[in-house]
Amino acid sequence: MTSPNVVPLSERQGVQRPPTRTSNTLVIEVPRVYPIWPRRVFVQWILRNVPQGAPDYLFNIYKSESPSGPWTTLATGLDNVYHYVDESWGATVDNTQGTLFNMHVSLNYKIEALVPAPLPPVTNPITPPDPPILMATAIEHLDPWLDHRRAGISRKLIRDSLIALKRIGTETAILKKKTWGVRCPLCVSTSNKSTRTTCPTCFGTTITGGYMNPVYGYATLSSNATNVSTRLEGQVDVRQRQVIMANVPHMDVDDIVIFLRSGKRFIVKSVLPTTIQDTDVHQELVVSELTPGSIEYEINVDPWREPCWWITP
Ligand SMILES: [Zn+2]
Repeated sequence: MTSPNVVPLSERQGVQRPPTRTSNTLVIEVPRVYPIWPRRVFVQWILRNVPQGAPDYLFNIYKSESPSGPWTTLATGLDNVYHYVDESWGATVDNTQGTLFNMHVSLNYKIEALVPAPLPPVTNPITPPDPPILMATAIEHLDPWLDHRRAGISRKLIRDSLIALKRIGTETAILKKKTWGVRCPLCVSTSNKSTRTTCPTCFGTTITGGYMNPVYGYATLSSNATNVSTRLEGQVDVRQRQVIMANVPHMDVDDIVIFLRSGKRFIVKSVLPTTIQDTDVHQELVVSELTPGSIEYEINVDPWREPCWWITP
């Protein structure tokens, strides 16, 4: 399938990834630490400088009121994820107290990326396996750029947007394309490009599994093509549509949005955050509908059977 020659909706084609670092050191970047009113915080990360042939990474998540600790462990050994939702604020807290909404504490998250230690030699099966090896650490403060009053406004704007999306949108599954993980054993050639666009193991992404575990939320889909473009030969691409979704997770080009009611699947062509008063309240995506029968329809998504997380107000 050749990708159409599409004129981007905006000059800001996609959310620009920072330039590749010259260092070879594995780095965790945290593009999103967002409160989801009233009791949850969404933390998202990206790995940079992932070495060739690296195994799947595991993640440990901690939180603290001080960037120097002491740290409270929230989760350890997370696999196949790029985000964590801190729900430790507790459902028993009275809503009117608004712990996150008007808190007077500072909040920091620490993310550790680890790789499993090599297995002990089979000649000595009694030896317990070594703990995973720490490869990189990131510490991120919630709302580091806002004072208390503005943080409160920011959280209300995000909450209002989520309420509106739930009212006017429909259920979607969001699949983030893997940017790290074990290389696909079936189809990756020496040039590191997928040689099989219909690969059932990596779905053409070159990384086993292809996409991270889905998250679910509400989004709107424009009924008409919003970005009709004319190719050189005069053909018009009418498959481009516009999706408005929550501000999290942070989307990138080549991620997939599935509208669960229709079953239609779309690949992201560009991302534009919608900003009100310096707050990214939602994301506007230009998407292209995947042809029915394409390999991306084989990616298993089942929000009614799997434990799953919904982005809701
Ligand atoms: Zn493959």
